[in-house]
Amino acid sequence: MKNYSIAIHGGAGTLIKGKMTKALETRYKEALDSALETAYAILENGGSAMDAVESAVCSLEDSPLFNAGRGSVFTAEGTHEMDAAIMDGSNLKAGAVSLVTGIRNPISLARDVMEKSQHVFLAGEGAMKFAEKLEYNFEPPEFFYDEFRYQQWQEIKDSDKFQLDHSVKKDSKFGTVGAVACDSSGNLAAATSTGGMTNKKWGRVGDSPMIGAGNYANNKTCAVSCTGSGEFFIRGVVAYDVSCLMEYKGWSLERAASEVIQSRLIKINGDGGLIAVDAQGNIAMTFNTEGMYRGMKNSAGKKEVAIYT
Ligand code: ASP
Repeated sequence: MKNYSIAIHGGAGTLIKGKMTKALETRYKEALDSALETAYAILENGGSAMDAVESAVCSLEDSPLFNAGRGSVFTAEGTHEMDAAIMDGSNLKAGAVSLVTGIRNPISLARDVMEKSQHVFLAGEGAMKFAEKLEYNFEPPEFFYDEFRYQQWQEIKDSDKFQLDHSVKKDSKFGTVGAVACDSSGNLAAATSTGGMTNKKWGRVGDSPMIGAGNYANNKTCAVSCTGSGEFFIRGVVAYDVSCLMEYKGWSLERAASEVIQSRLIKINGDGGLIAVDAQGNIAMTFNTEGMYRGMKNSAGKKEVAIYT
């Protein structure tokens, strides 16, 4: 049996320590820990990397603390439009959805796109029709209502500004969620889910559901899930770039992840971070922001749940 491991994130950003109370920090860490442990138990029982990343992301989507699923931010129209993607590194199959509303766990819908349609990426109304066909329950808007996020939106709603859940206003509530895993057979998987950016409009789609930008998995190299200002991650094809540096240059996971986030992304003024795992179970968690909600656990007995550097 090979080493197995999992890493998760709940968004990177400018986290102001002063705004974070001890109690809130504990709540964040508990939510991360619970997602981590649920997913790790799957790996420990011989489960697949795909099942582990889906379950970790579902758990984070169900928490109002993170900008995904239930805690998704408000769009310029006062709605919630969610994006998600999942990829299986063993066969390069992938599924993604974008601009979906009313779906409690967009990551599961993304997996259904992969497994139950002949497509990779379904968006908007079409994705919703697909969900209807699979008899998904649609949650009412109140399910996604969060007073804090509503206020975040109120502050910029009449402007052309749109904002990362955890920057500019320097809030103490943060973003996008993701998970990467390596299972005991050496298979890799990555999953990412987000509500996007507050006050987004015109059908704005970020990097999270785009295969290769915010999410990527390939057993030959690594599995990656990103968080940050999506526009830069799309332009940098960030997740795939990490994989390419490993495949074409023979770099280690750590070196490739750090080159992309600490050098290439910064050169185009991009802010954010990523979590990644390779087929030996090594984990990289790197960010160029003040912090990133994150956690990791591996079969060698190492565990970490952290927010700041
Ligand atoms: N990357 C996400 C997006 O641009 C935002 C985030 O990571 O919080 O939609």
